[in-house]
Parts: sequence; structure tokens; C-alpha cells
Amino acid sequence: MYISFEVIIIVVLALLLFIAYLSKSFIKHFSREQAYYKAIIDTSTNIVLLSDTKKIISVNKTFFNYFQGFRDIAEFSKKHDCICDYFVEEDGYLSTINDGVVWREYLVTFKMSKHKIKMKIDDEYYYFLASSSLIDEKNNVYALILSDITEQETIYNELLSRSVKDELTHIGNRKLYSEVLSKQIILAQRYIHPFSLLLLNIDFFKQINDSLGHDIGDKVLKEYTRLISYSLREVDIFCRIEGEEFIVILPYTTKDKAYLLAQKLRLLVEEHKQITPITMSFGVVEYVKGDDKKSLFKRADKALHRAKESGRNKVIIG
Ligand code: GH3
Ligand code: MG
Repeated sequence: MYISFEVIIIVVLALLLFIAYLSKSFIKHFSREQAYYKAIIDTSTNIVLLSDTKKIISVNKTFFNYFQGFRDIAEFSKKHDCICDYFVEEDGYLSTINDGVVWREYLVTFKMSKHKIKMKIDDEYYYFLASSSLIDEKNNVYALILSDITEQETIYNELLSRSVKDELTHIGNRKLYSEVLSKQIILAQRYIHPFSLLLLNIDFFKQINDSLGHDIGDKVLKEYTRLISYSLREVDIFCRIEGEEFIVILPYTTKDKAYLLAQKLRLLVEEHKQITPITMSFGVVEYVKGDDKKSLFKRADKALHRAKESGRNKVIIG
């Protein structure tokens, strides 16, 4: 069959037009979807930031609620390659370099832990919970999400000025435990609501100090208190009462619920395995009418000893 040259040209042109139409509608659809995603990210109250190892690629609108002196990311990038320029290097908060690891990689590596960042922006201090993930491994592109915890952190830091915070771990100290427990007992007597105590002790901690050194021992104390504190509620009071012994006061909590929480924490600690694997033993008690601070602690301590005697890495109700 003979097909004329003109027919071939017309068919080829028609095909090209069809392909152009398809790609145009695909691009239109794709860019509409992209605009939707951008709108969602812009409505977040968290700061959302994309960056590679050298520069910030893009940010959401919320970013500029904090960094108000800049119109867009191009203007910001002229002065800063990294928001770490704003980090306040302080114990308890993420630094630009952490244990020799750059903060972005540190966030990705220790994904399961929560990390706090303190920033000084225009003479104001802000506190954020930070999480990050590597979204493009080939080009080393990270997504970073910062949620503002300034209010909670400011209240918490007030505890420090009242000298009820433990210097090493930044949780409450024995004084806070004693003050809060007195108040809890009064409240429990007046309103008849339950509350419980968890007494926690690291198993064979002396061996960790002896084999890895005291400084590593300190790091273990910090790491695992951070891990536990992020698994507790805002109302729970977590204190270091001596060396490697801790107490959690759990308001509105029966011993059965406290037992479940202790089992959850026990497993969390066992599976964390950061710095060096450790385990913990737990004594659990619930306040009963007539208890005072001494009697409550004594029962918790007895339960903890039973947990130790029965093989450690255990939870015992007293
Ligand atoms: P158990 O399972 O029976 O609890 O054994 P343990 O080794 O954990 O308990 P022990 O009471 O024998 O030892 C506790 C160790 O905790 C001894 C002490 O040197 C260490 N320690 C106490 N406070 C600190 C501290 O602030 N930093 C460090 N690194 N170690 C501490
Ligand atoms: Mg111990």
C-alpha cells in the first residue's frame, strides 16, 4: 500500500501534538499537587525546612514567624548556610557538633530519641523539639521539623532557679521529689485520687563505671534519663534521688497502670542499647490511706530489692 509523504507528516505532527498535550496536563496536575502539599506544609505551626549539607533549600511560612528579619530564603541564605548559627550551645540541648557528629546526622542517627534545640533569635530564646529524616540519600537532602516547646521549657527551667533540678541529668533532684511527694500525699488525702511511685535503679552500674570509666557512666545516666523522660506525661515528676537511682511520681495512676508503664520503660531501656546496653530494675507502689513519705518509699525500696534479688531487669509491685 502506498502512503503519501504528506500523510506521514500529518500523522507524525498529530502524534507530537498528542504527546505535548499529555505532558502539559501531567505537568499541570503535578504542579497542582505540589501546590497542595506546599499549602499543607505552610499551615503547619512547626518549622519545616529542607536542606542539604551545604545550604537550606526551602522552608515553610512558619519559618519566617521566627526569622522575621528576612523576606525569603534567598535573603536568609546570604547571611547563613545553616540555622545552627542560631544554636545556643548548652548542656541538655543539641549542639552543632555532638560527640563528633554534625547535628543533622546526629538527628537522623538517633531518630528514636527526642532532641531539644535552644536558639537565640533577635535577642529572644526559643526552645524546639527537633526531628529529621534523610529524604534523598543520593543528594544528602534532609527534612527538618522543629516544634516550639518554649512555654514548657521555660516553666521547666524555672525549676532550675529554685535549685530542684539535678545538675547532671537536668531532671528533678531529691529536693523536688520530696516537695512534690508531700503535695501529692495531701492531695490524695483530700480528693481521694490514686497516685503511684516507680523506684528505678540501673543494674550493675558499678561495672559500667569500672570497665568504661566514670565519664561514660555519666553519659549513660544522661542518655537513659532523657529516654525515659520523653516516655512520661507532663504531669509525671521524674527525679534522680542518688547516683543511679531514680523515682517517678505518677499522679492519678493506680499501681496496675504504674506496673504497665514500668514494664514499658524496662523494655525501652533494654532495647535502646545506646552508649552501652543497660537494664533497670523497678519497684512499684501505690499510695494507700495512712501512708507517709517514709512508709511509701520503704515499700518501693523493698519491691526494688526483690526485683534485684529475683534476677534484675524486673518490675515488682510492693
Ligand atoms: P545493682 O544492680 O545491685 O544496683 O548494682 P550497681 O552496681 O548498680 O549498684 P552499686 O550500688 O554497687 O553501685 C552504684 C554505682 O554508681 C557506684 C557509683 O560509683 C556509681 N555512681 C553513683 N553516682 C554516679 C555518678 O554521678 N556518675 C557515675 N558515672 N557513677 C555514679
Ligand atoms: Mg544499681
